[in-house]
Amino acid sequence: MGTLSLPRKVSVLGSTGSIGVSTLDLFAQAGVEVEIVGLTAGRNVARLAEQAIRWRPKVAVIEDETALPELRDRLKGTGIEAAAGAEAVRDVAAADAQWVMSAIVGFAGLAPTLAAAKAGAVIALANKESLVCAGPSLLRTAKLAGGAVVPVDSEHSAIFQVLDPAIADSVSRLILTSSGGPFRDATRAQMAAATPDQALAHPNFSMGAKISIDSATMMNKGLEVIEAAYLFSMPPERIEVLVHPQQIIHSLVEYADGSTLAQLGPPDMRPPIACAFAWPDRLPWPAPKLDLVTAGPLTFQHPDPDKFPALAIAKQALAAGGQAPAVMNAANERAVAAFLDRRIAFLDIPNVVAETLERVDSGSTRSWRDDDAVERARGADAEARRVADDVVAGVFAA
Ligand code: NAD
Ligand code: MG
Repeated sequence: MGTLSLPRKVSVLGSTGSIGVSTLDLFAQAGVEVEIVGLTAGRNVARLAEQAIRWRPKVAVIEDETALPELRDRLKGTGIEAAAGAEAVRDVAAADAQWVMSAIVGFAGLAPTLAAAKAGAVIALANKESLVCAGPSLLRTAKLAGGAVVPVDSEHSAIFQVLDPAIADSVSRLILTSSGGPFRDATRAQMAAATPDQALAHPNFSMGAKISIDSATMMNKGLEVIEAAYLFSMPPERIEVLVHPQQIIHSLVEYADGSTLAQLGPPDMRPPIACAFAWPDRLPWPAPKLDLVTAGPLTFQHPDPDKFPALAIAKQALAAGGQAPAVMNAANERAVAAFLDRRIAFLDIPNVVAETLERVDSGSTRSWRDDDAVERARGADAEARRVADDVVAGVFAA
């Protein structure tokens, strides 16, 4: 591995989640020598402390301040600093790591991700919500500071790997693939009666609860269309979504000359994490390899717009511009939480999002100063949360 140039000082934001755990697992399996600056988590203090004891970061941060005494207690005598609160999470992101895994879920990931961008780190971006809420500012900030944003979301990692930026003008279409989620073959009537347990049962992956529900509504793919539009400067009409249940082809880039390039791999998040870690090198590790013979036939179909209205909602929010994507994201976060709490039905999720977008004036310009990006997005996010909660209450009362 001597000839590889790999980042040495790293931080993992959201280390206790599905992506965070996969990241540390990859480090272990690849046997890379990393010096961990910080690990951060939301509430899972037991897992955070366990990871800290194994990985010896300078600092371990729990966002939930009430958990600080327990974290201190668990780390007593280790020499690892314990800290708490959203600001401490941001401080870790802004510290001197060369590579930062951004794997917090939801809007909460934006401020730390932007802090890492300002610090000039290479950001391995799993937290798609931060791109959705402030994509152009985040990308400009990273570039200006001499850092970079490397996508971890498997579809965007696929496109990143096969899109040659030197000939980006020759790209005619991006094709994002989707598993179709747990309701790919369900009827709308079955979806109307879906329970949280049924919606959480993703066919190929074990992921965090929020992205699992997003996969079931296909809002995940809607967020990813916006993510792709910003990352690859592509207009919405040139981004297509295809359902591909086997999740072997992770996405495709179609060029003007009729050639289409795809990236393939087993359904596993560690290869895209490895790609973001070693880019432009390739990290050797005992990766599960793709066996095309046993993978079976690869099939594709168009998503059903009646079952998955979230896709069209996301494209409209992207086209509307201004803060519409941030409003959409916030409404979706609240609607998903309400569904998981059994306060609304599964098919109410896209309705709450559409109704919130209708009610909130999200402006039409994107020309704010990058310095204000978080504040602007935070304003839109807070307003959209309030409105979405009202809409949810209305659904509940009905
Ligand atoms: P998860 O729920 O499993 O983990 C989220 C992590 O963020 C946890 O460490 C949690 O403690 C932390 N966290 C939650 N709320 C927080 C807050 N308010 N402040 C600070 N930390 C907080 O989620 P996940 O499945 O790992 O997904 C993480 C991100 O990666 C999401 O944006 C998701 O869309 C994206 N992503 C995930 C996958 C996947 O396979 N899981 C694939 C592609 C993209
Ligand atoms: Mg994805």
